Amino acid sequence: MTTYATQQLSSAQVPAEFLKQSVLRQRFLAARERACVHAGTIARWIGGPRFQDAFGILMYHRVISHLPESCPPTWNVSPERFRKQLSGLLNRGLQPRSLSHVLNRARRGETIERNVFVVTFDDGYENNFTHALPILRELHIPATIFLATAYLGRSEPFPFDDWPLKGSEQVPPESWRALSESQCDALLDSGLIEFGSHTHTHEDFRGRPGALVENLHQSAEFLRMRFGIESPTLSLPYGGERQGFSGPDFSAIAETAGLTCCLSTEQRLATRRETPFTWGRFIAEQCDSSATLMTKLSGWPETIRAIWQRLKQT
Ligand SMILES: [Zn+2]
Repeated sequence: MTTYATQQLSSAQVPAEFLKQSVLRQRFLAARERACVHAGTIARWIGGPRFQDAFGILMYHRVISHLPESCPPTWNVSPERFRKQLSGLLNRGLQPRSLSHVLNRARRGETIERNVFVVTFDDGYENNFTHALPILRELHIPATIFLATAYLGRSEPFPFDDWPLKGSEQVPPESWRALSESQCDALLDSGLIEFGSHTHTHEDFRGRPGALVENLHQSAEFLRMRFGIESPTLSLPYGGERQGFSGPDFSAIAETAGLTCCLSTEQRLATRRETPFTWGRFIAEQCDSSATLMTKLSGWPETIRAIWQRLKQT
């Protein structure tokens, strides 16, 4: 395992398009997304859930105390907000399920209840153990953490972390540091947490199918040898289909490599019409309340987004 962990870290870099989007287009996209959610809230009040045969997967990253001066896109959610979001969903009648639960049901062709939601985390930050786990335990909510397996136990920031405050003295190390292997053991011992792959080194794999295959094998082997996980789940780094970070080619590679799903960051519900290799996820942010998450999980914002795209093309 450690042979993988000692790999060169410099090969993993944040794609330029991703950085460019993060500073220039992020505010516009965030405002547009907020408008879709507001419109979706009205549609949900009038019409109820958009689809009856779908469920939603939430995507978190860091759970740390909110820092007003921190700039997007960090997707930092404070512990207080994290608790409110999830307890609010429970109070509204939603049922948390593990990713393996919904995958097993999908594999057997069984219906997944409309009010189900799944919690996931990307990258594998230490604060998933220090801040998220106690809240998940308190609320009895299972979750999957997708690990960039090459970096477990590292004391330096992830090379792909685009948060300007990472590694600085202004923020505690747990806000940006990777999980240690012993913390991973404790997470698994909790009985609430499952691990999946976020590839081994979290690189930009666009146009590099061979590198992705090799990286997935490294990550799957690490998870098998260190944690006894066979056929892990997968969430793709960066993950947006329009930017080329996910799509049919990635899904086919993941399926051939023996992974059990291939989650993107496309904000859409998982339906029975799709396979787990095309399921998307909803970003849960500090600005989200349980009401806005409920709206995202209703399916209306994605319908409004699709209408917007169609109008733009006409
Ligand atoms: Zn990531």
